[in-house]
Amino acid sequence: MNISKCAICNQNKFKKTGVVQTSVWERPNLKSLKRKNVSFVLAKCLVCEHQMLIGDFTKTNLNNLYKSSSQDFTPQVVTENPQINIDILKSIEKYVTRKKATIVDFGCGDLSLLKLIKNKLGRVRKVRLIGVDFVKPPYILDGIDYFQANLLEMDKNNRFKNLKFDYGFLVHSLEHILQPRKLLTDIRSLMNEKSLLYIEVPDNGLLDVVNLLSLDLITPQHIQYFDSDSLTSLITSNGFQLLARDSKITNQIPRLKMIVKKKSNIYHQTPLSKAVDRIEKIIESSANIILTISHHHQVAVWGIGADLDRMIKLNKKLKTKIERKELILFDSYLWGKKWFGNQILNPGQFKKTRNLKIILTPLAAHVRKDIFKNATLMGFNKDQLIDPYQ
Ligand SMILES: [Zn+2]
Repeated sequence: MNISKCAICNQNKFKKTGVVQTSVWERPNLKSLKRKNVSFVLAKCLVCEHQMLIGDFTKTNLNNLYKSSSQDFTPQVVTENPQINIDILKSIEKYVTRKKATIVDFGCGDLSLLKLIKNKLGRVRKVRLIGVDFVKPPYILDGIDYFQANLLEMDKNNRFKNLKFDYGFLVHSLEHILQPRKLLTDIRSLMNEKSLLYIEVPDNGLLDVVNLLSLDLITPQHIQYFDSDSLTSLITSNGFQLLARDSKITNQIPRLKMIVKKKSNIYHQTPLSKAVDRIEKIIESSANIILTISHHHQVAVWGIGADLDRMIKLNKKLKTKIERKELILFDSYLWGKKWFGNQILNPGQFKKTRNLKIILTPLAAHVRKDIFKNATLMGFNKDQLIDPYQ
């Protein structure tokens, strides 16, 4: 897969900042050993400043990267430090409130985190534990399910079809992923409104501070180099809401930790859709106001444009009134032109008769305010001017 676009903002404007390289045994099963170079370009997005590796990540390249140093095509399994797993559990424990929970570790490695969760939480709660990884763990544990899956192809895997998890873990996996946005979208689809996801990646924003204690953080296995800003941007633009964020150096690795949940649509969409409905209603009622007033008075509409056009579309009687020249059209810019066969007039040159009622049609409040001011300067009376939106 050729990676040429930014994992955060999807643009393809990069500045190449270096080369990240390693070497692998070319044919480790042969007696005479030979190492082969594997290198990728480290680049910085010129739009959002995210740093990542770009280039052609072929299957062979990826296999090489995850090959163990002694065997052919056996990916490495990282055994995490037990203290790190205890830290992870501590940071999410206060959120674990349910008696019954499905817990998934995406990129479970040797199942050590799930084993700890089983021992700690499994004693007091009914937990279903699932580990997901493309590499089989060295041993299967009783009471822990294992789904073999490529994290980037979970949507194609039937085992995830009806799965919803309560607590999910994505620990030191996202930085290995070619398309982190896709992985997060797939994980999000396995969450309900109350599900929580714990994410941890190396914090590259702290590399200068720690003076790069752990030099192996810059490796071709790490494709994405997140910092607090870039990960937050990826998370929030992917339909997640940030509940907690922390950055900490443990075991000589700067760790960026986040706890996220699905962004709730209720708060963001309801008021907006209500406002759209309200505008439609107010335009319709303004059209009715014009028609009602015109039964008893001579009526001019001031402001010939989109808002009056919407009124006409919602109430065809207005169009007939304009065509029959029963409505006077006022516009300070369009005067002299015709609309529906009716001449648009310059309000400044119109005879100031008391019986004339003038309806201000623009939806924009500041435009109505300007018309009101100009109309009174031109000699119209305040009582003649009607704001149909109030
Ligand atoms: Zn970018």
